[in-house]
Amino acid sequence: MRDVCIVGGGVAGLASAIFTARAGLETVVVDGGESILARNASLENYPGFPDGVDARRYLELVREQAATAGATLELGRVSEVSALEADDPEAGFAVETDGGDPLTARRVVAASWPDSEYLVGLGVERRQAGSKYFLEVDETGRTGVDGVYAAGRIAGEPHQTVVSAGHGAKVGLAVIHDSGTPFYHDWVAPEGYFTGRGREVPPAIEEIDDEERRSRDERARETVLERFADPLEDEPTMHPSVE
Ligand SMILES: Cc1cc2nc3c(=O)[nH]c(=O)nc-3n(C[C@H](O)[C@H](O)[C@H](O)COP(=O)(O)OP(=O)(O)OC[C@H]3O[C@@H](n4cnc5c(N)ncnc54)[C@H](O)[C@@H]3O)c2cc1C
Repeated sequence: MRDVCIVGGGVAGLASAIFTARAGLETVVVDGGESILARNASLENYPGFPDGVDARRYLELVREQAATAGATLELGRVSEVSALEADDPEAGFAVETDGGDPLTARRVVAASWPDSEYLVGLGVERRQAGSKYFLEVDETGRTGVDGVYAAGRIAGEPHQTVVSAGHGAKVGLAVIHDSGTPFYHDWVAPEGYFTGRGREVPPAIEEIDDEERRSRDERARETVLERFADPLEDEPTMHPSVE
């Protein structure tokens, strides 16, 4: 059984996965199509890219980052999530996909804008707004069903990439907390930041020395230069109703 199954490999789902996988939780992301961000023509309000970034390139980078963190990415449209034992939320969930093998997970994060039909049988509350449904969540992304969370636009967050990424991360942290980690910051600090004050390095925080810092910086620069070397052939996906 996986620790967490994230439904939707778009902005929020991948951000959640980066956090849960880095925390050592066995994380699978199941994606049934394309992020709505693939329709964007130029992503210009995501912090860190002063002249913007091709949205499809951004999505490729985030997929790569989730995989590097240790998450498994699988293709498949989730059609049903059911509790393995009705009266025991700790028993986990069965996640069924169209055409794929079912998988089991202790926790499920819905990051599947705009689809939440697969949660109806489980009793997760939704609210309708026009033709769309949003899942009801608390301030940390937990739904009313123990072990089920929602992240990004499907949780009613504003329709912006950085908000979905941030919310995905926040929900990932809630999953980590609920999995038994009482205090958690996913940080990398310079050597001595804690130990130099006679403190133990807290859980999940890493202290690295200057040599390691330089080698990570070199690797980061090489990766970015390589991934941005050529223009992408892919074009934005047009709205389905445009001829
Ligand atoms: C034309 C356009 C331009 C935009 N431009 C900008 C912009 O410039 N700046 C900005 O900040 N935001 C922009 N956005 C908004 C941005 O794309 C969204 O806010 C963001 O992608 C929402 O992230 P999300 O993770 O909630 O959803 P998504 O990124 O759409 O991810 C949801 C994922 O879930 C998958 N999924 C759905 N149902 C299932 C299922 N049953 N099983 C498995 N997987 C499933 C989908 O295939 C998708 O990959 C734009 C949107 C559009 C349409």
